[in-house]
Amino acid sequence: MTMKLVPTADLGMNRFADKLTDQSIRLRRARPEILQVNVGKLCNLACVHCHVNAGPKRREIMTRETVEQIITWLGKTDIPTVDLTGGAPEMIPDFRYFIERVKQLEPSRHVIDRCNLTILLEDGYQDLPGFLAQRKVEIIASMPCYSAQNVNAQRGDGVFEGSIAALQLLNSLGYGTVPALPLHLVYNPVGEFLPAPQPELEADYKRELRKHFGIVFNRLYTLTNLPIGRFAAYLRHGDRLGEYMELLIDAFNPATIDGLMCRNTISVGWRGEVYDCDFNQQLGMQWNNGQPVFLWDVDPDSLEGRDIMTGDHCFGCTAGAGSSCGGAIV
Ligand code: SF4
Ligand code: SF4
Repeated sequence: MTMKLVPTADLGMNRFADKLTDQSIRLRRARPEILQVNVGKLCNLACVHCHVNAGPKRREIMTRETVEQIITWLGKTDIPTVDLTGGAPEMIPDFRYFIERVKQLEPSRHVIDRCNLTILLEDGYQDLPGFLAQRKVEIIASMPCYSAQNVNAQRGDGVFEGSIAALQLLNSLGYGTVPALPLHLVYNPVGEFLPAPQPELEADYKRELRKHFGIVFNRLYTLTNLPIGRFAAYLRHGDRLGEYMELLIDAFNPATIDGLMCRNTISVGWRGEVYDCDFNQQLGMQWNNGQPVFLWDVDPDSLEGRDIMTGDHCFGCTAGAGSSCGGAIV
């Protein structure tokens, strides 16, 4: 008989930590290579799977003062990449200012915009794709399926059509074809199952998007839905959260550990506070026993070797081929 598992948050346990101990694995930080900044929870969409609980009514957004403090800190480091996420990061008033300031640093840093695509078609954002292309900002865009039905079910009516139009617009600017303008897509399952193998899915996406819409892109990243935020609530509502946890735990793959994004990424919240990853950020897992540690108080040279805070949700990153901001790990 299979036992139903209850999520950690309900029991105060950490089965992920137990699993690592059983396998004599210690999860520690490597040298930071990516500064991932979650600039706020404001978004034009309100997707079913959203781990941020983002939406049009959220008011948590980064101020210019915080942007300045982050830039000053970044300028003293050799971290080569800044990864902007949200919500829809483009919606904060200082989004363009942030990018300009990062690009002005000596040496300049690479910038990634995690984009939901539809924001590029909203009023007031028409010149944004051109701005991004001019600054050679890499775009990583959510596209949970190449079929209208699945995308609209997960993200809302009309989102598929909007996403297609936005991808065509990005292609017309050179995204996906010019080497300095990478365009990657992100797939996450429309439900409580693991993603199909990334290479196969990428081939399917490339074939279908080109055939039906003339769209080209560079890489497809497969992501596993983590059992937190709106997705956890959705599963809990259908009494399927325990089953999903069981699936993730059974699929634990120790070969994913070295490539986990928490090893080389610093995650920063909209107030400048620091976490091991964006998921821990959404769960409020702050470094100092639940108290905020702000980025500008962190010595970047002290991060290597630091133990990473974990919970049951981490099984979402280590299941099967693994899941990170750059897609499958193994
Ligand atoms: S998943 Fe992305 S696009 Fe959807 S509501 Fe969340 S932040 Fe917005
Ligand atoms: S959720 Fe994933 S990225 Fe975050 S700490 Fe756990 S394993 Fe690392």
